[in-house]
Amino acid sequence: MMVEKNTIEFRCVQQGMRMTEQRKIIAKVLSSSKDHPDVEELYKRSARIDKNISLATVYRTVKLFEDAGILEKHEFKDGRSRYEKTPDGHHDHLIDINTGDVIEFQSEEIEKLQKKIAQQLGFDIIDHRLEIYAVKTKNNK
Ligand SMILES: [Zn+2]
Repeated sequence: MMVEKNTIEFRCVQQGMRMTEQRKIIAKVLSSSKDHPDVEELYKRSARIDKNISLATVYRTVKLFEDAGILEKHEFKDGRSRYEKTPDGHHDHLIDINTGDVIEFQSEEIEKLQKKIAQQLGFDIIDHRLEIYAVKTKNNK
């Protein structure tokens, strides 16, 4: 069977990872999740597809994917580790502290400013993470 390009499963196969049925399911669930789920949530979604998947398996699989650089882990201050597919391009996150919703954004201005600050301090940026914690004040969308 063809593995769709750029999915988590594809990246696993590319790295020569042995893909069991359960790993495939967890990879699929992760690929189709746009909301930065935590392990508990991934477990719930995966168990809906295969009720034999255990929470321990999800933990192990997520760790495996993370160690392989396929997943990115976020600690958004709510005590839960949340995951997303390592993005192709860079983005930052705004976290709604009331709902836990995560909004992705990109700002050319912020990127430029960070570069400038690092340069002034004598550095080149390798990577950065920006997390904005916020409360919603109006419904503009
Ligand atoms: Zn994200």
